Amino acid sequence: QPVIELRAINKTYGKTQVLFDIDLTIERGQHVVLFGPSGSGKSTVLRSINLLAEPDSGSLRIDGVEFGPGLPGAAAVKRGGRLELRRRVGMVFQQFNLFPHLCALDNVALPLRKVQRMSKAKAREKAAIALRRVGLIDRAANYPAELSGGQQQRVAIARALALDPEVMLFDEPTSALDPELVGEVLKTMREVAETGMTMVVVTHELGFAKEIGDLNVFMEDGRIVESGPRGFYDNCT
Ligand code: ADP
Ligand code: ADP
Repeated sequence: QPVIELRAINKTYGKTQVLFDIDLTIERGQHVVLFGPSGSGKSTVLRSINLLAEPDSGSLRIDGVEFGPGLPGAAAVKRGGRLELRRRVGMVFQQFNLFPHLCALDNVALPLRKVQRMSKAKAREKAAIALRRVGLIDRAANYPAELSGGQQQRVAIARALALDPEVMLFDEPTSALDPELVGEVLKTMREVAETGMTMVVVTHELGFAKEIGDLNVFMEDGRIVESGPRGFYDNCT
């Protein structure tokens, strides 16, 4: 059974429809890249998967569990299913969104305490494991301002990984970084991909996108206009 199924997702902001009947099926371990011009709806598709953007109609299934609006799952979402959804679907943004007053370890530990309701000690233990995965255990006690942008983004990746998500969403994770810091974040993403993590990625790093994407989805004006397997876009620039 697919990890993620989006069916006939429509999304409107005010009077502007930004997603039209989006259908997307993502299998476990698949690495999906969303391509398309700015404003074509890539970010909104990503945010539909964790309901940061709530679709107007359609359905969302994660591991077969329905989270669709107006459907049986909608009630579950209201009852705290949204927290469960956020645990299952990790997201990394362009901005790292770390808390400046918390050290790296506690930034990673915080959602474990809030979402997983772990004790402080247990959360820190898990956070340390996640920081080790992204190669930053030696920076655990540092505050965000003491870390490079690349390191901050790796902490943000660790924060999402610590919740043991089924899926990781990346929305232009390197776009806010100085060019010399992009590589270390792509390396961390590559390592996450190699663990078999299901991933959905929006990125301007075309080389990386082609390397990682085993399902390539092309969007235009709020619609999926084409999709294909690895190598599908090799003849494009
Ligand atoms: P992309 O990620 O492909 O650049 P987005 O999904 O960010 O595209 O945006 C798709 C369209 O939806 C754009 O026209 C954008 O301005 C609009 N949009 C996105 N988020 C909002 C919002 N919160 N309120 C109003 N319009 C939005
Ligand atoms: P991204 O493409 O990475 O989502 P944006 O700058 O498009 O970044 O969006 C940043 C935030 O502003 C998002 O929360 C998005 O939903 C919101 N947003 C984007 N476009 C619009 C818009 N036309 N009107 C209102 N909010 C918007």
